[in-house]
Formats: sequence, C-alpha cells, structure tokens
Amino acid sequence: MKDTKLFCSFCASSESEVDFLVEGENVYICDCCVNKASDIVNENMKKSYMGLSMNMQKPLDINRRLNEHIIGQEKAKRIVSVAVYNHFKRLNNRNDEDEVQIEKSNILLVGPTGTGKTLIASSLAKSLNVPFAIADATVLTEAGYVGEDVENILVRLFQAADYDVSRAEMGIIYIDEIDKIARKDGNPSITRDVSGEGVQQALLKMLEGTKANIPPKGGRKHPEQPLVTIDTTNILFICGGAFQGLEDIIERRLSGGGMGFNRDVKETVEDSHLFKNALPSDLQKYGFIPELIGRMPVIAPLEALTDVAMLSILTDPKNALVKQYKKLFDLEKVHLEFTPQALKEIVKIAKDRKTGARALRSVIEEAMLDIMFEVPSMTDIDTCIITDDVIKDAAAPIFKMLKKQTA
Ligand code: ADP
Repeated sequence: MKDTKLFCSFCASSESEVDFLVEGENVYICDCCVNKASDIVNENMKKSYMGLSMNMQKPLDINRRLNEHIIGQEKAKRIVSVAVYNHFKRLNNRNDEDEVQIEKSNILLVGPTGTGKTLIASSLAKSLNVPFAIADATVLTEAGYVGEDVENILVRLFQAADYDVSRAEMGIIYIDEIDKIARKDGNPSITRDVSGEGVQQALLKMLEGTKANIPPKGGRKHPEQPLVTIDTTNILFICGGAFQGLEDIIERRLSGGGMGFNRDVKETVEDSHLFKNALPSDLQKYGFIPELIGRMPVIAPLEALTDVAMLSILTDPKNALVKQYKKLFDLEKVHLEFTPQALKEIVKIAKDRKTGARALRSVIEEAMLDIMFEVPSMTDIDTCIITDDVIKDAAAPIFKMLKKQTA
C-alpha cells in the first residue's frame, strides 16, 4: 500500500485508494471524480442543447415553421407540433425520483402516399436542428435474417449526427411504410413471421428505449468490429404509412359492424378523411401488436390533397417547384412564367397518377425537358411562358425576345 499524503480534493480519497490522481495547482482529482465530472458535463451539454431548441420552439413556432414547407394537413401539423414540444419538455424535465414520469410520444402519421408525411418529419428535424434519418420498414427483418437489421436504422442516425453519440441520441427517425409490417391477416401468428410480427417486436424495443450496440459503419456485426452503444430512450420516432384498407376497418366500426365501403366503387385515397377517426383498436385489427401501438400514442391523420392544395404546393412553399424552376431559368437570365391554366393542367395530370404531390415534379420535368434543353442556347430571349398546351400537348412555350421590337 502506498504511503502518501495526497488526497482527491473532490472526494477526499487518498492516492492509495484510487487508480491515479491528476495534479493541478494545489488541487488533485482522482480518476473516479474525473469520470463523474465528465458525465455531468455531458449531461448538462445535452440539456442546454435541448433547452435551446425548447426555448425557441413553442408549438405555435413549430407549426409556423412547418407551414413554410407543408401545405394543408393542419390537423397533423398541430398534433406533431404539440407532440414534439412535449417531447422536448419531457427531456428537459427528467427527474427519476418524480412519481409522474412523462412518457415518450412517438408519432404515427397515417395518410395516402405523397401527402407530406416524410416532408413533415424532415421539416421538423430541420427546424429543430437535430439529426434525422429515414428508414423504410419494408426492408427490415429480425436480426439474423436476410435483409436489414432494425438496428441499422440507428447507424444512419449516428452517421447523420456526424458520429456524435449524444447528438444521435436526441435525433428523429422517420420509419416509412410502417403499414407494410402489419400481420397480413390481423391475427396473432403462431409461427415466427419474418416480415411482420418479428420486425414489430424488434422495432418495439427500439421505440420504447433500449441500449443498442451498432456497428458504426453499418452492415452486419462482426466480432472484430468495435460497436457503439446508442440509447434510444430519447430518440423521437415518427412512423408513417398509407394504411390502405384501414378506412374499411374504421368505417366498419363506425357503422356498427357493417360491410364497409365497396372498394370497387370508391377510391381509397378519397376516404382518407376517415383516418381522423382511427383508434388503436383499428390498428390492432390492421395487424399491429398492441405493445407497438401503445408506443405510438400520437396518431396524426393526413388527408388526400385537394386541387387547391396541389396548386398551392406548386407555388407557395419555401422550396416550391415553380420557384425552383424560376431560379434555374434566372441563372440563364430568362424570366420563367407559368400561366394559371398551365398550373391547373399540371395538377390535373398529377392527380391522375394517384401518387399525391409526388407526381407534380415528374409532370413538370417531362414538360420542361425539351425547353430546358434548348433555352441555354437561346441567347436572345427574355421571357419564357409555359401555357397549358405546353403541359398537355408538348407545344412550344411562348418566348419574348430580349430586344423589344416596338415600332
Ligand atoms: P409521403 O406522404 O408519401 O411521405 P412525401 O412527404 O414524401 O409523401 O411527399 C412527396 C413530395 O410531395 C414532397 O417532397 C413534397 O415536395 C410534396 N408534398 C407532398 N405533400 C405535401 C404538402 N402537404 N405540402 C407541400 N408539399 C408536399
């Protein structure tokens, strides 16, 4: 035993009781206290980081930021704003001794394809300045099966957080097409089911909070590869899906057990307004295990987009498609205009494709290809006007020449 008069200035342990003492000017700190101090610093940094987001972002602020990008979907935006606010409030006021523990509110976005589910999640992450990762539930399988381990989702988040564990642990993960991992028949399975219940169980662990060991570079875990531990307790999970057929279940329940709609006659997307009545029991009938539904307590319904909303999506959001094309043309020193009829025509064609606002881009792309091919070589034009004939019949746009040809 070492005989020394040196003590840790923080915990008063003698040099012989600890592994080592770090010496300062007339002070000493032992390895144990260094570790504790480091934990406190990390925890406080996390808190102050989250406090920053918190202070700036009340539900109204979050909603306002979402409005800059997302047209319509007022109910979903409101629900998400409150859930995210509560999420950060919970993180800022964690007290393990308190009897009342606020539980995490992961969010389930239910609505037709191309209506803004992914956009809500990504806009949210951007406005909160937290790392964000998107995963597709359809490729997930239980660990050990061919496909992607559920934990690989965390790898993506870790990478989005620049390999910073504490930042990743406060991130947002969007899991798309969650409806595809529902049990097909809605009945509990007796055998293990790789694509359905097993994945749900694996996801459940992550959603409720677990310490997952991930290979930082992704891929399969190898014994020789060092693993990184990520605690998912404070990661906000947003799951989304089109949930085709859920309207039937809701409708049947609402009508007291009748037959529901006749799918041959009614279009699924038009029934999306029914999603606002979705209950956890409907999701269970749809094929989700109750434990997983319990971990997504916030259900936010999204509606099919109206023509007016689609028109607005073309022109109004911060990064609206029309604004993007105008900017491209500005760089060529050409002023680009779309006539109101042209915009309506784009919406009409896009709606026929039944992929929501997603089709808007491809419709414009197709119509603009030849024009974008030619315009950079047309040095004498000042303005290019896209009419409905350009969209409908691939007609030539109206060009205005650079030098005014007035008499
Ligand atoms: P999904 O609901 O299938 O996740 P996305 O959010 O990926 O749909 O939407 C696809 C694209 O359509 C987005 O990138 C966005 O440009 C546009 N979009 C869809 N819905 C909206 C909306 N409500 N407001 C603004 N743009 C939207």
